[in-house]
Amino acid sequence: MSASQDVVVSKVEVRDEAHRRRTFAVISHPDAGKSTLTEALALHARMISEAGAVHGKGNRGGVVSDWLEMERTRGISITSAVLQFSYAEKVINLLDTPGHADFSEDTYRVLAAVDSAVMLLDSAKGLEPQTLKLFDVCRYRGIPVITFINKWDQPGQEALALCDELSERIDLQPMPLTWPVGVAGQFKGVRDLRTDEMVRFRRARAASEAASEERLDAETALAEEGEEWTRAVEEAELLLESGGQFEIERFLDGSATPVLFGAALANFGVRHLLDLLVELAPEPVERVDEKEKARELDAPFSAFVFKVQTGMDRAHRDQMAFARVCSGRFERGMVVTNATTGRPFATKYAQQMFGQRRETVDIAYPGDVIGLVNASALRVGDTLYSGKPGVRFPGLPSFAPGFFAVARVRDLGRAKQFRSGVEQLASEGVVQVLRSDKRGDAAPVFAAVGPMQFEVASARMAAEFNVEIELSRLSYSAVCRLTDPKQRSLIDSSGRGEVLTRIDGTELALFNDDIAINVLRRQHPELAVEPLVGAGS
Ligand code: GDP
Repeated sequence: MSASQDVVVSKVEVRDEAHRRRTFAVISHPDAGKSTLTEALALHARMISEAGAVHGKGNRGGVVSDWLEMERTRGISITSAVLQFSYAEKVINLLDTPGHADFSEDTYRVLAAVDSAVMLLDSAKGLEPQTLKLFDVCRYRGIPVITFINKWDQPGQEALALCDELSERIDLQPMPLTWPVGVAGQFKGVRDLRTDEMVRFRRARAASEAASEERLDAETALAEEGEEWTRAVEEAELLLESGGQFEIERFLDGSATPVLFGAALANFGVRHLLDLLVELAPEPVERVDEKEKARELDAPFSAFVFKVQTGMDRAHRDQMAFARVCSGRFERGMVVTNATTGRPFATKYAQQMFGQRRETVDIAYPGDVIGLVNASALRVGDTLYSGKPGVRFPGLPSFAPGFFAVARVRDLGRAKQFRSGVEQLASEGVVQVLRSDKRGDAAPVFAAVGPMQFEVASARMAAEFNVEIELSRLSYSAVCRLTDPKQRSLIDSSGRGEVLTRIDGTELALFNDDIAINVLRRQHPELAVEPLVGAGS
């Protein structure tokens, strides 16, 4: 075979492999059942033999990831990585989002690396605050969303009310693909709207057991379930008549969402969800670079770093960077270039991980996530490529912080280490670091999307830089971007807020609340501030 034929074969291979990828994340509020759903998805794919091996939550006997001590004591997973498994001849990449009640930028950044999302709702609670924040990011980034309404085995809200909430609160048209038979708590199964069959619910004996899915035709369902079947048919009709007919274009353009009902704990509805991901969820497409030029999937290898993490494993105290492959075929051992610095980066150790499992990756394709070890030279937003220079993907947006604290070193003798630690945390995006001449270098302001980022920052400073820091919380909770730097003193002298400069040069105006901004705006109509939406600048 000639060299040119070689190239042709591998381009086809890359396109075929990309075509098989489905890369998504689950967005939900804590306790909606994300870990349970993840385990159930993996179980269906027979990826892990025992449910519970993914997250070491509670007493499920799973593996507790060995990162920071706080992670162990709280039994939470701060790390976010990827679970990969094959299903129906596709390769599913499920990117994990941090699951704690708190919230951090990591959660948002994961959404920069997915092609679709599953929005998981608790049937008793509907849309909850964290789900809303994450949904905003999906909408902003144009990520199509499939909705899974969970815990239907226990009492909850009416199916119609839950669907109305989607259209009324977030202007997202629900397009039910299944409809529950029997109210929440007395769940009989679902009607599959596309086949008009009933899929009967049988409670699995254990979470690790897949629920059996008996299918009945409409006539049998009516004979056996009577009124409950009729009600399911009528309710679904109501929604279909008011714009809920399934249309794939509306799912892909983000204006509507397919809706499924189920119970992750009983493994009910989970296979349907997997089938839907395979059938509907978008596969990787060309990513557009900084110059708005699309990088073809079969172009030489390129990827962008969406997360950097240090010391996830005591035995390997190193920095690991997670990168999403955008084009080409990745092979372990490749020497790639970091577009930001122009320097080479050897990918001797590339791993995939989820929870504590680390597996060496030898080959990866567009849509896959690779974890690069010894990655101290890599930063969030960096582009890696092989072949000719010229590709650089846009940096990841930073997100509107809502929590602020002044950081100071306790032992002034360690001021130098303090400064390098702060630089490191800022470059990794552990917290955003804001400065002003008024506060000086010794008292930078840490800004976070969720307060737990502060704890992570303190713990990292102590563990890695041997620096104890003192954090004093500021009362600010609202933030805007100042577009006219000349107005800095107007805000600083108003007594209502303060302007600080973020490391990327953005001038942020902090206020106690939105009222303070509005009052100032009334006094100074020329005020040049604009909102930093959840999805960032
Ligand atoms: P996460 O915080 O979103 O990861 O939620 P978990 O997966 O830890 O689930 C929170 C709680 O809800 C746990 O006690 C689960 O057993 C329970 N749960 C999850 N899915 C279901 C379900 O389908 N039905 C019922 N009844 N409970 C569920």
